[in-house]
Amino acid sequence: MARDGFRVVVIGAGMSGLFMAEKLKRSGIDFCIYEKAGDVGGTWRDNTYPGLFVDVLSRQYEFPFQPNYDWSRKFAPGPEIQAYIKKVAEDRGLRRFIRFNEEIVEARFRDGKWHLRTAKGRADIADAIIAATGFLHKPIYPEIEGRESFAGPAFHSAHWDHSVPLAGKRWGIIGSGASGIQITEALAWENCDVTQFIRRPQWIHIRENPTSSWRERLFLRLPFAYRHRQRQLWKFICETDQWRLRPGPQRDAMQREFRRYLEAVKDPELRRKLTPDYHLGCTRVPKSDRNYYEAVQRPNVHIETRRIARILPRGIELAGGDIRELDVLVYATGFDAHAYMRPMNVTGLNGLTLDALWKDRIFSYNGVALPGFPNFFLLYGPFSPVNNIPVPIALDQEIAYILRLIAAARGCGMAVAPTRAATEKFVARLDTAFPGTVWVGCKNWYADQHGTPILWPLHQDEHTALLKDIVLDDLEFIPAGASAALRVAADAG
Ligand SMILES: Cc1cc2nc3c(=O)[nH]c(=O)nc-3n(C[C@H](O)[C@H](O)[C@H](O)COP(=O)(O)OP(=O)(O)OC[C@H]3O[C@@H](n4cnc5c(N)ncnc54)[C@H](O)[C@@H]3O)c2cc1C
Repeated sequence: MARDGFRVVVIGAGMSGLFMAEKLKRSGIDFCIYEKAGDVGGTWRDNTYPGLFVDVLSRQYEFPFQPNYDWSRKFAPGPEIQAYIKKVAEDRGLRRFIRFNEEIVEARFRDGKWHLRTAKGRADIADAIIAATGFLHKPIYPEIEGRESFAGPAFHSAHWDHSVPLAGKRWGIIGSGASGIQITEALAWENCDVTQFIRRPQWIHIRENPTSSWRERLFLRLPFAYRHRQRQLWKFICETDQWRLRPGPQRDAMQREFRRYLEAVKDPELRRKLTPDYHLGCTRVPKSDRNYYEAVQRPNVHIETRRIARILPRGIELAGGDIRELDVLVYATGFDAHAYMRPMNVTGLNGLTLDALWKDRIFSYNGVALPGFPNFFLLYGPFSPVNNIPVPIALDQEIAYILRLIAAARGCGMAVAPTRAATEKFVARLDTAFPGTVWVGCKNWYADQHGTPILWPLHQDEHTALLKDIVLDDLEFIPAGASAALRVAADAG
């Protein structure tokens, strides 16, 4: 325990929460983690559906403080990612900091401290909060008439029911995002019948997923070789991933390549059904390891693009009255990407609630902080680079930056929050960057209610620069502890 008694509560034990925990541990800051589920892993604990693979190189998806030289494949399967995260928690001794099965339902800033309450009624007090609650953790279900009436097993892709055998069943997969694509592709090669219900086809990246050779595994164990490879990888991303940011030959070439993948579909009518009517990159690009386009041409796979009229006990009725009889129904319908830490109730200075702050628009300062919410930090908050920087690299940058903010505040016995003006300036800067990027001019889950994507629209280097140092003029320091009450009263007056 630090001499000044400073204490941090981290909410969530997915990749972000564990990364934060390791850094707090190393900094000697007292902390604990609340996790609403019974294990670590977040996304990789919850999503266990067949066909789940990481969509970036496995080596881009590991904590920099714990390299994994033994990924089985170039793009590791989901269970392997989860096993790795669990191992990190074990090896780093992080489990002892976690209070499992405790959901934080309320956080309120009062008298310079954060007062927390869990769903079970436990209370806690912290000087700072890190919301590592993820951005894809709240499943959403479609509003379809008769949804409750289906007679067979029906579940969201994030809650796969492994008691249902794959073989011999007629599966209905609703959704064409990354999960829907991966599930359909996996089931296609099983001894079962699959119908995928597609409202909007996707541009799909057909890729190879070779196993890792023993040579490579051995080579990466050399510290120099590992560092060199990781640096090369980062350089490669920074150079080649610019097509998302501006139009030009790189983007045109990518679009052509994706059209070529579609040529694998021989039946023109099926190809038409699978061809998006919007540009590449608008949505997160699903990756296919076992050639989705080949999979959907198998006789046991059916692509259905007609509107779903209603769900019946025995299947799905389509617009026009045709019925698809099904045994199992899977909702691969995604997540509420704009929930962030909600439904948790968060109240900052002067009774300002998170819902009120975000009433007209969801935003943040630098992706990690909110005006009016002192010592409250987010990992992967609004405008974080969810699409163009590997998660561990972005987390590394955000965490180092948050620790700098905490150090600045703690050094003077205060709590820190960005000013409104600085936050508005940050948001305005990003707003001018969106035109010309792939994320505008089409519908996607990044966009807020006004159609503005909530992600990082600038070059990777600019994100590094943004979080390199804190800008004191952008920050306000709020008395922490007893003197805070006076300040709050003065503000209210
Ligand atoms: C199906 C799927 C596939 C994905 N594939 C990829 C991929 O291939 N590549 C990639 O880069 N990204 C992928 N992502 C994105 C993925 O979410 C991130 O890469 C990363 O795992 C996020 O980690 P996180 O810790 O921030 O969030 P999460 O993994 O969502 O963890 C958040 C944790 O917080 C807990 N929590 C939330 N609210 C509370 C509360 N109030 N109280 C207590 N605990 C709480 C949750 O239970 C969870 O354990 C995928 C996401 C999904 C859903």
